[in-house]
Amino acid sequence: MNTLYRLSKYISAAALLSIFYSSASAQFNLQIPGLGNIGKLLDTTTKTFKEVDEPEEIRIGQEFASILLGAKPLEPDQRKQRYVNALGRWLALQTERPDLPWTFAVLDDPSFNAFATPGGYIFVTRGLLERMHNEAELAGVLSHEIGHVLRKHHLHAVQKNSAFSAAGDYFTSSTGGNAQVKSAVSGAIRNMLVKGLDKDDEYEADRIGVVIAARAGYDAYGLPSVLQTLQKQSSQDNNFTLLFKTHPLPADRLTQLDQLMGQQFDTLPGISGKTIEERLKEFGR
Ligand SMILES: [Zn+2]
Repeated sequence: MNTLYRLSKYISAAALLSIFYSSASAQFNLQIPGLGNIGKLLDTTTKTFKEVDEPEEIRIGQEFASILLGAKPLEPDQRKQRYVNALGRWLALQTERPDLPWTFAVLDDPSFNAFATPGGYIFVTRGLLERMHNEAELAGVLSHEIGHVLRKHHLHAVQKNSAFSAAGDYFTSSTGGNAQVKSAVSGAIRNMLVKGLDKDDEYEADRIGVVIAARAGYDAYGLPSVLQTLQKQSSQDNNFTLLFKTHPLPADRLTQLDQLMGQQFDTLPGISGKTIEERLKEFGR
């Protein structure tokens, strides 16, 4: 819990969030055409998993978050923490789960990666942030991660792990929280972080990500643009190894998105937004 406490200290920026919220509301009102239909894409999958209630989902997410924070420290530049958190929360407000304790943070790591955990904790690396060309690209990446949370992809991946199911209900059973159960849960999480999710979960998060970014007023092509950059990237570069290992090829993701996007997003007046560097200047010191 200590790590989470530290985390909340970094990113409780309600005042800044409200400034961002009010300036972004105008953008939201701009996007209308076709979104009603596109929005339906958010309500697709019905997979059957044992229901985990929301408090348990969040606590499993906290376990995830502490594992991630145990591996990489938080980026010390608090402007970046405030900025990513404000943008992420604005995006999360566009979804059917706006009330989760959405928490966004930047990890101090030069590699290019992003992680979502159950319950709404989302991390991007400093290396990813530095490689974004504009805010719409970052919005696309964060929305993809939000998509994983909405569809409970990581939660289900952990539930599928045999060690986890053998441990029973993590927090609700009488054994909840004991050392053995805890280690089964963290083992399942670590295993998942190395292996990544199913390809279909990644494709689904891409589709949802495009819709959320568009709903929030951003250019829907932000995420495809990031995938195009990744397509040119050598998988031999150490900063990209884990990402390539845990995700389908960028070209395959673009092909999948093409089928969704067709021309229906072309008419949306989404914005690309400023560069991240320009944006950070607005977030103080
Ligand atoms: Zn993903």
